[in-house]
Amino acid sequence: MLRILNGLWTTVLDVVYPPKCPACRSAVAHHGDWCPVCWEGLLVPRLLSGRAHQLRYLTDCYVVCRYQGGLKRVLHDMKFRRARRYAFHLQRLLAAGTGEVKSLPPFYTPDAVLPVPLHPERLAGRGYDQTELIFRPWVDGKNWTWLSDTLVRDKDTIAQWRLPLPERRQNIKDAFTITRPELIAGKHILLVDDIFTSGLTMDECAKVLCQAGAVEVRGLALASGSP
Ligand SMILES: [Zn+2]
Repeated sequence: MLRILNGLWTTVLDVVYPPKCPACRSAVAHHGDWCPVCWEGLLVPRLLSGRAHQLRYLTDCYVVCRYQGGLKRVLHDMKFRRARRYAFHLQRLLAAGTGEVKSLPPFYTPDAVLPVPLHPERLAGRGYDQTELIFRPWVDGKNWTWLSDTLVRDKDTIAQWRLPLPERRQNIKDAFTITRPELIAGKHILLVDDIFTSGLTMDECAKVLCQAGAVEVRGLALASGSP
């Protein structure tokens, strides 16, 4: 009976809100799907080296998607227009992108996963942390440890993308603090964030993590404009 009701509900939902690709809004078979054109164009998993981006603390960052086209709008709407419904679509990209690592160095098993934190005022204004919505189910599915309040953002910085490159390092400098260094010392850390731009934000997080005794800090981002 429950299954019939569920099926009926899905049908009603599909009629009222027909499933659409979140990037180009063309019709798709199921809620959560991307159309094949957007999927192919966006999903480009790759490993960005910290050294190539002149980062001092972050070893590298594994990136799942190209930051372009409809994905830019999806991430923007999730951040600034309360479109938390897109988390489901983005989780699909994340799962597919991290499942395709065979051609790359092995995706290591971290001791702990930490999201690049939002400033508390931004979190309060938005009502949710989009990075947690995207990554948390994936991390839980792997039985990895998620530490969300061990790395905190004390300084409410200007969004990095609004600034020219030379000002970005200064903007983000000393923005983060470790609240419980005993959870970090001796650990391999994976930092996760929605977008990797210059990498300076992750590098600043990696700096305080290394100062707290982390053995290594690597990154995972959903999207980046870097090739
Ligand atoms: Zn599409």
